[in-house]
Amino acid sequence: MVEMETIVSLCKRRGFIFQSSEIYGGFGGFWDYGPLGVELKNNVKRVWWLDMVNRREDMVGLDCAIVMNPRVWEASGHIEQFSDPMVDCRECKHRFRADDIPDEPCQVTGGEHDLTEARQFNLMFKTYVGPVEDDASTAYLRPETAQGIFANFDNVLTTMRKKLPFGIAQIGKAFRNEITPGNFIFRDREFEQMEIEFFVKPEDADEWLKRWVTERFEWYSSYGIRKDNLRLRQHDEDELAHYSKECWDIDYNFPMGWSELEGIANRGDYDLTQHATYSGQRLVYLDPETKEHIVPHVIEPSAGVDRSVLAFLIDAYHQEIVRKDKRTVLRLHPELAPVKVAVLPLARNRPPIVEMARKIAADLYKYMPAMYDDTASIGRLYRRQDEIGTPFCVTVDHQSAITDDEKYDGKVTIRERDSMEQIRVDASQVVQKLREQLEEGSKTL
Ligand code: ATP
Repeated sequence: MVEMETIVSLCKRRGFIFQSSEIYGGFGGFWDYGPLGVELKNNVKRVWWLDMVNRREDMVGLDCAIVMNPRVWEASGHIEQFSDPMVDCRECKHRFRADDIPDEPCQVTGGEHDLTEARQFNLMFKTYVGPVEDDASTAYLRPETAQGIFANFDNVLTTMRKKLPFGIAQIGKAFRNEITPGNFIFRDREFEQMEIEFFVKPEDADEWLKRWVTERFEWYSSYGIRKDNLRLRQHDEDELAHYSKECWDIDYNFPMGWSELEGIANRGDYDLTQHATYSGQRLVYLDPETKEHIVPHVIEPSAGVDRSVLAFLIDAYHQEIVRKDKRTVLRLHPELAPVKVAVLPLARNRPPIVEMARKIAADLYKYMPAMYDDTASIGRLYRRQDEIGTPFCVTVDHQSAITDDEKYDGKVTIRERDSMEQIRVDASQVVQKLREQLEEGSKTL
């Protein structure tokens, strides 16, 4: 298992993830996605949206505002309940989660911390809306995307004419003032969620919970996460959130131990009922067969984008010895890889080679994220691409382009990342060959 440090350092060195505000010393719990990181993260969100929304008939999407009417958070229970029990050290003034007090000694006394009784600390970030900063103008940055979906339940139902069972999906930022952010992008104060609220008839809820648990588990594995690094864990009674009837976590075997990647909960009719009560609106579904109004029950698969990115990176990371050299390779699923192909000219100042390589790159840009790199020797260029998970490299050499060379063949080399297998194809065939290859998800050249 790779150490977290190794992943953090690769992410920084190769432009995936940087500390936020790094030039000012960083800012705890906030991270910036660099040029490759934003591609990887967008790819994770794109495949989730494709699989969960576009490729299903029973799902529609939504993109809600981050700041909502504060009544939403009263109705949802977040103002009352969304808190962690905290303790303070009377000497060093550090604050800890009551269930996560570190072993280290107090920095003032050098002995054990002198802890206060536990107090509840609400995790929502507050802000003010409008010109006056007072209680009446207090609003919150959403701590989850789910509530925007519930608040729009009726809008979606009436505009999309959906029949139960159906789901509403949303990807977006969420904010939690976590007391102990850490483990890189695992626990952040600003993060992204990919959430589904799946509305079902009450009697079908158990069945749909099972289905979603299986479906979501398989989804991670279909994008390359090894099944033995995934596990399902059912929440004990005393662990269940206030709204939840039954909940399963999909855990990933992160370097710090098994931890939650996604939670799938049966929320019953809690949210729709609460919002109906607080808003005074009827949030019901008219069953076309029985002509009865019912409050649907909800199954919620709730995934973290950042935790998924981290799990995909960790699972993809491999080190191996190739011809006595150490090779680091990210075996990312081609759909997730930030760059699909790199075009590498073997000589930087031989015009025929450069022209051919430039032409191939320009053709590739129309169809896939591609990169042109001539800034090092071929060995180093390959190593760079392996380390960022690029599935294919195309090299243009003397034989490809120099017509007065008696070995001229007009062909270029395509190299596959994992097997390092190489084939030569006609330069004019490169785009088509790679498009087919990526479409089929096939690794054999
Ligand atoms: P945890 O127990 O780890 O704090 P949670 O049970 O509070 O997580 P949920 O409220 O179920 O998390 O949120 C759903 C998903 O959102 C989580 O499975 C996780 O992937 C993601 N998530 C929650 N909190 C954070 C965070 N602080 N940083 C990054 N991702 C998060």
